[in-house]
Amino acid sequence: MIPSKFIGILSLLIILTVSYGCTNNPPGSGGGGGEFSYDHQQNPGLSANDLLSDESFSELIVEIDYMPGYAPNTRALDSLRAFLEQRLNKTSVTILAPTQIPSGDQNSYSANDVREIESQRRNNFSEEGILATYLLITDGYYTQQNVLGIAYYNTSNAFFGPAYDDASTGFGSLTRYQVEAISFRHEFGHLLGLVNVPGSGTDMQTDHQDEQNGSHCDNESCLMYYAMQRSDLIEQLFNDETIPVLDANCIADIQANGGK
Ligand SMILES: [Zn+2]
Ligand SMILES: [Zn+2]
Repeated sequence: MIPSKFIGILSLLIILTVSYGCTNNPPGSGGGGGEFSYDHQQNPGLSANDLLSDESFSELIVEIDYMPGYAPNTRALDSLRAFLEQRLNKTSVTILAPTQIPSGDQNSYSANDVREIESQRRNNFSEEGILATYLLITDGYYTQQNVLGIAYYNTSNAFFGPAYDDASTGFGSLTRYQVEAISFRHEFGHLLGLVNVPGSGTDMQTDHQDEQNGSHCDNESCLMYYAMQRSDLIEQLFNDETIPVLDANCIADIQANGGK
């Protein structure tokens, strides 16, 4: 989950977290006789090893559906692909051309709303050797208005367009590219099992979980920190559009679970 919150005019706080769904999917559902079957409705983090290592899947695809007005930022998608290529042991990472889907005509979308939309709109599922992931961008807020994104299944993230608008509007705010790139990368970080996500296999090599803030890193300059605060006017005026990277502790965790 990624909440974002303005504090005064000059500082922006983005809080980033993961959302565990109540998923109760019968094993093997959706698989036809003899066909390859993969459960895409598990909790976030449970496909961490499949994402990180090349043992079961050597290729990765990312499907993106967006509601009107919220096509993803192209540079942010390039940034996401670069991140995935850098950290996952895959021979190829393919981000499919984003597809516009109809508005859900809601001011806000709950995690269950998002799951329902996925069940109607998702077209790409994992096949032999190819792991499929799904990214949905809605035209309404999350039930908490300051949330930018949530990881809601083991291969699925949702992002909330109006929260992007809020986070990238106003003097001293992050750029649209930064807001989207940070949130895309951060939510994928949760799918990789960061930080210390139960059952993910991405175990902490060194204790660095910010337990007060859930599955997050205690290093405030790490991509997996729960919040980003930009309150320094000088820093903002000379903003070079950098985005945070994974720190050494997070990298060690994913490397120990098949990543790089
Ligand atoms: Zn987070
Ligand atoms: Zn970290």
